[in-house]
Amino acid sequence: MSQKKKSAKSNRPQQKQPMVSAATSSYYTDSLGFMSMDSNVPGLSNVILEKLNLKSYEEYRTAVDGKSLTTNFGIRTYYDMFQKMEDTYKFCAQCKKLPSLLPDPRSMRRCKRCQNVYYCGSECQRENWPFHKKFCRKLKLAAIDRLVEWLIFTGDIPFPTKPWIKPFSELKNWEDWFSMQEGLEEKLDSIMASRYMAILWSNAGKPRPEDNELRESIKRLMTDFFTRPMTIGFAINAFSVDPYVKPITVHVIGASHIETLNIRATDYDELAKMFPGNQGIEVVMVGPEVVDGPVMRPPLVAYGPRGRVYVSGYKGLYHVFWETVIESQQAARPDLVVGFHPGFHASQGLAEGWLPTLLLLRDYSIPSMFTMYSEHEMKYSLQILAELETQVLSFGPFPFSSLKPEQVQSDPNKTPASSNAFHLLFRGTIGADSETDMAGLDGADIS
Ligand SMILES: [Zn+2]
Ligand SMILES: [Zn+2]
Repeated sequence: MSQKKKSAKSNRPQQKQPMVSAATSSYYTDSLGFMSMDSNVPGLSNVILEKLNLKSYEEYRTAVDGKSLTTNFGIRTYYDMFQKMEDTYKFCAQCKKLPSLLPDPRSMRRCKRCQNVYYCGSECQRENWPFHKKFCRKLKLAAIDRLVEWLIFTGDIPFPTKPWIKPFSELKNWEDWFSMQEGLEEKLDSIMASRYMAILWSNAGKPRPEDNELRESIKRLMTDFFTRPMTIGFAINAFSVDPYVKPITVHVIGASHIETLNIRATDYDELAKMFPGNQGIEVVMVGPEVVDGPVMRPPLVAYGPRGRVYVSGYKGLYHVFWETVIESQQAARPDLVVGFHPGFHASQGLAEGWLPTLLLLRDYSIPSMFTMYSEHEMKYSLQILAELETQVLSFGPFPFSSLKPEQVQSDPNKTPASSNAFHLLFRGTIGADSETDMAGLDGADIS
């Protein structure tokens, strides 16, 4: 896929409309992940759909796309809700059998240590232990987090944060961020004592973890919630974009339902706290999977509100957004572009779908940052950028990655991933005299 500098503007406008509708249906990245579960546990995708009272993946998409957001998935009680969620994890981790294939579906047993993986019987559990023991501890955290995560929906997490007392450049990791949160212990205490925390553990069907385990879980979920504004802040700092001089515009490209389902207009407010007294920060979510909701309002044409963050959205491919909205001056050009987990490695088709966007970012020399779940994904992304002769400025593990472990639902005995675990920064074309050495992956941070 060696592409010579092809202008991003070379797409003929008349091809635009039919191409978009045909193209968008194939850019649902999570449909790849969803269906691939069945290759590990045959029938698992059906179990999930059934638990949600949905007939097909398309119906699921329609529901999350907000076309029928009133649907309650047939859930009547909290207990029912937590059970249905847990049921999607119920299959034998050794032989992959679903409960429906057992003589007595209720005979599934659960690992007592992690309360997370299931077995059809003691024989499978014994056989599986040599593999499972490597992941049991981490999976225990994952099982707690996926329940405590509910407190994000109830509004208990995150706790309110304060304007930063240090510049971003002085923060090295989450510990530094937590140390800026005045009264941290009291804030955690109040979440621990909240009404929904009590409802959660009386309905979870699992023993309530120790208090210190729950406090750690709340903190991991805080990092999971804030890892996205932190990513943007990191890029603002790394590229020396200055929100004190003028209002800035950040595009989040390839935004999917992960970033936009249940999003609140205040979810990126941490950026305003990071840069107190800024001239206004606009975050525009752009992608074919952007979900209708409070942020689906048009991008700003004039200056944004001073000192605050304004989130807006556009449902469609980025290069189409650029050609139709930015070029006609209905929205500002970005000072910065961020892509969360573009997932080029998932399929050749996905990487090709990103091509017009990557060329556009390169040719307009837009300061850009991508994040990845894994080193493998990062290396693949670096390879694509190298083929496009894009100038990569730095890459490596991301210090503000989510600390919440994301378990592989269909294959729990695998290393859990973390959102924004790796990152790379790029801008423009590789210059004749500033060749970027792509061979030395270990020598990160070239910038
Ligand atoms: Zn089994
Ligand atoms: Zn276990």
